[in-house]
Amino acid sequence: MSSIRCKTLLHWYAQHRRDLPWRHTSDPYHIWISEIMLQQTQVKTVLPRYRQWFHTFPTIASLAEAPLDDVLKAWEGLGYYRRARFIHQSAIRITEIFSGHFPSDFNAILSLSGIGRSTAGAISSFCFDQRTPVLDGNVKRVLKRWHQKPEALEKQLWEWAQSAINQASHAANWNQAMMELGATHCSASKPECALCPVAPHCRAAFHVDILAEKKKPVAVQNLYWQVDMHRCPERGIWLIQRPDKGIWAGLWTPPIRELDKKPKQKPSHIHQLTHRRIHLYINLLTTLPTGHGQWVRDIRSLALPTGIHRLLTS
Ligand code: SF4
Repeated sequence: MSSIRCKTLLHWYAQHRRDLPWRHTSDPYHIWISEIMLQQTQVKTVLPRYRQWFHTFPTIASLAEAPLDDVLKAWEGLGYYRRARFIHQSAIRITEIFSGHFPSDFNAILSLSGIGRSTAGAISSFCFDQRTPVLDGNVKRVLKRWHQKPEALEKQLWEWAQSAINQASHAANWNQAMMELGATHCSASKPECALCPVAPHCRAAFHVDILAEKKKPVAVQNLYWQVDMHRCPERGIWLIQRPDKGIWAGLWTPPIRELDKKPKQKPSHIHQLTHRRIHLYINLLTTLPTGHGQWVRDIRSLALPTGIHRLLTS
């Protein structure tokens, strides 16, 4: 890693960084929530949800005390609900084990549910000024291009990332700058080498082989689900809570039955997940529901998956 490249990238970041609310704080609770929200969700979607989160749960203690249902409700629409469950578990752990204070030790951060090495690196550098690298998808791509090694493995990437941050004058800004470069000029499909501040120090500059970098597409699995709809003008709609594991874990839906084969009729709604396409078929019932569940008049009072929301409100 050349020190000129370090200085150039940090200078570019200082001049051109996007103004994002989590870049105005080093409070670990705020950084933690922003990092988890940003893992699978676009910045523009996260922005209003990030602000709203701290109105609902202003402190780690308030988050730990809240019922899981409230946390899932606050996460509604962000997808990958496992993240919300992990956040809740970690808030409880922070309250019980760390006296309510977010830990500053890297291994303690790593011990929290849903926090991997890269996220721990972000929190540890942004909040506690530690030289712990971030290695998310954007940073991996930048490092592979700098070294012109599209096939580089995790171990090698971590070594490059650590070596780079060791030479940077500011650990937090370094991680932010690497993520920013990957999210802007050094994007996966359209690298803008002509605008890139570190092009003179990049081995792949102006001849990135996008096709060679492309990963094999993952096959999409089709699922056919019958949604048993019990509606009652006086009581509302019958909803049950899904099991703790699997798709839409812990969220509220009408009773769902997985069908063995694709029905002849058109689905009422199709919901796309990353690697799954769920075809939903409404089955209107006039019988009374059985089993555990509840009548719900206002579906906004519970956490429902986006696909079910759309189905019920379309
Ligand atoms: S020169 Fe091109 S490939 Fe290299 S880091 Fe910059 S944008 Fe990415």
